[in-house]
Amino acid sequence: MKVLLLSKNVPKVNADRDTLLRHSYFTFLVDGISRACSHQLVRHRPASYSQQSQRYVAMKNFPFVVPDSVRGKEVTVEGKTLTYDDLMSLIGKFYEGLVDAGAPKEDARFVLPNACTTRVLFTMNGEELVHFLRLRTCTRAQWEIRKMAVEMLRILREKFPSLFSHVGPNCYYLGHCTEGEKSCGRPEDVRRFFATLGKRGA
Ligand SMILES: Cc1cc2nc3c(=O)[nH]c(=O)nc-3n(C[C@H](O)[C@H](O)[C@H](O)COP(=O)(O)OP(=O)(O)OC[C@H]3O[C@@H](n4cnc5c(N)ncnc54)[C@H](O)[C@@H]3O)c2cc1C
Repeated sequence: MKVLLLSKNVPKVNADRDTLLRHSYFTFLVDGISRACSHQLVRHRPASYSQQSQRYVAMKNFPFVVPDSVRGKEVTVEGKTLTYDDLMSLIGKFYEGLVDAGAPKEDARFVLPNACTTRVLFTMNGEELVHFLRLRTCTRAQWEIRKMAVEMLRILREKFPSLFSHVGPNCYYLGHCTEGEKSCGRPEDVRRFFATLGKRGA
């Protein structure tokens, strides 16, 4: 996964942090995330998105994300023992077979998995970015979007410490966890992590 802050627009006015955030815009390019991750990202509505198309790009040898939990595992289906990578390769071949048989790429792509990587360009204003980061840096968020959100926050803190040093999951941002029974139960550890993120190369 690659996360780049492509551009930003923070007004040069003497105003408090919330006002500056409200009037600021940040454009990120995220490459190499799975479609499972991008699907979660685009649920955040006050933002603009552009995503790499699967309609026209040939996806024969599609790149894919491998969750740690599936590494080294084998599954037997109808007498054939397959790894995750074997299945991805099989899907790529099936996709190619459909295209060779005359199916348009926009239809052949229906067989592609959530694991397929994608590239998303998106712009959020500072207020929405804070909302997004509060939800998605929390340990309750799914690991891939959390990894992406933590990297975004690290970059933002390095470049704009006065705007983002207070941002993190709610246990850090508010000082208490809001997840109730679903809390990870270790807010002290989480707070410690976010207290140093983006500082002195952390
Ligand atoms: C840990 C976690 C688990 C999740 N699990 C699921 C799940 O199982 N199933 C599922 O479907 N989704 C799930 N989601 C997605 C979640 O339901 C939201 O769709 C997503 O987090 C976007 O957040 P949001 O709606 O608060 O804010 P955003 O869309 O980011 O909007 C920010 C804020 O702007 C305001 N706003 C935006 N649009 C409008 C509007 N049209 N009208 C009025 N106000 C608006 C609201 O105040 C909103 O809170 C999950 C999210 C998280 C973080």
